[in-house]
Amino acid sequence: MMLESQRQQVVDHAHELATLTPGRTGNLSVREGDAFAITPTGVPYDSFDTTDVPVVGVDGDQRDGEMAPSSEVPMHSAIYAREDVGAIVHTHSPWSTTLAIANEPLPPIHYMIVAVGKSVPVATYAPYGTDALAEHIVMAMRDADTTACFIENHGLVVTAPDLETALENTVHVESLARIYLEARAAGLEPQTLSDDQLEVVLEKFESYGQ
Ligand code: 13P
Ligand code: ZN
Repeated sequence: MMLESQRQQVVDHAHELATLTPGRTGNLSVREGDAFAITPTGVPYDSFDTTDVPVVGVDGDQRDGEMAPSSEVPMHSAIYAREDVGAIVHTHSPWSTTLAIANEPLPPIHYMIVAVGKSVPVATYAPYGTDALAEHIVMAMRDADTTACFIENHGLVVTAPDLETALENTVHVESLARIYLEARAAGLEPQTLSDDQLEVVLEKFESYGQ
């Protein structure tokens, strides 16, 4: 079976989308070489197995799998042009999507933002599943030098070298979006970290953990 371990990861982790995004919205993928395993389109996250999981080439053509792939194949394909990306998570998480519907980026209000960059920009709206949307997302992350972006009136996309990190960073961005909005709703004016302060955190992160 093609990309067996990547398909297994899709099956093992797809249920985590349920806590992050409503209903059947959102999708995730894991890349190996010039192809990726991706969630099937429009099915509940606990209702497919590895043989169902679509395998798609970075050219966008389906190579294997019983089910049809996510409608966001153009977005996943376009993002995988970046060699350092091994996994992608897309959600309609409520706090991130609240910023996205107001076309407001997330400023560096907390040091954990460096998990994805120095801010989270907003990619310009285009209909879901289109090449235009894929281009806007790639541009937003490239211009802001981030591994995450909001999508105007739609949701959030997070990329990482592996799926566990992409899911963990999705939770981080959603949490920071919530903190930022709760502070503003309380009438507070959140202050932001400076570029120098963020650079220090980036250096510390290189040696963080066990
Ligand atoms: P799929 O079910 O086709 O992955 O679509 C969900 C979605 O969020 C589209 O943007
Ligand atoms: Zn979506």
